[in-house]
Amino acid sequence: MGKVKLLDKSFKLYISAEEIEKNVNILARQINNELKGEEVCFLGVLNGAFMFASDLLRQINLNCRTTFLKLASYSGTSSTGKVKQLIGINEDIKDSVVVVVEDIVDTGSTLEYLVKLLKEYGPKDIKIATMFMKPEAYVGEISIDYIGMKIQNEFVVGYGLDYEGYGRNLKDLYILESQN
Ligand code: 5GP
Repeated sequence: MGKVKLLDKSFKLYISAEEIEKNVNILARQINNELKGEEVCFLGVLNGAFMFASDLLRQINLNCRTTFLKLASYSGTSSTGKVKQLIGINEDIKDSVVVVVEDIVDTGSTLEYLVKLLKEYGPKDIKIATMFMKPEAYVGEISIDYIGMKIQNEFVVGYGLDYEGYGRNLKDLYILESQN
């Protein structure tokens, strides 16, 4: 399927499921090698990372824990505007190597915030695994340990990523078609 329409926008096929799978397997091998013998806890970031986490974890052979968290943003009435919270985390990650499993890293601001919050739980180390990354958009300081694929600085959907909740179920990655 070369094209897909979600609400008012058209997207075209960008990266096939086969290509994604190949890169997930490479990442899994790398993680299996590097974190052997460590107390590891994988932390999938909902909603977008559900598909990547599912595919990645099936290839992980470590004796590890897996959990998920959600970042909630609330529009506050204060001058700071937004308040973010973690839902679904507890202090069990103390002394573990935490591997954050993200769908995509864009500017890196979500990640920056998440890592700051996670540090308060006292993990041994924090590693970042993301399926996709947009190097041109990234302005963060945190180094990304495991990157599935680097992509163009354009809006994409599929493989867990949505447009207004639609498109998460697509097994391939699609890119927004120019409007003209
Ligand atoms: P950042 O904070 O790194 O700028 O953005 C990260 C979050 O923005 C991701 O977790 C994802 O939810 C959303 N995001 C960034 N780029 C895209 C994209 O191309 N497509 C979709 N669907 N979401 C994106």
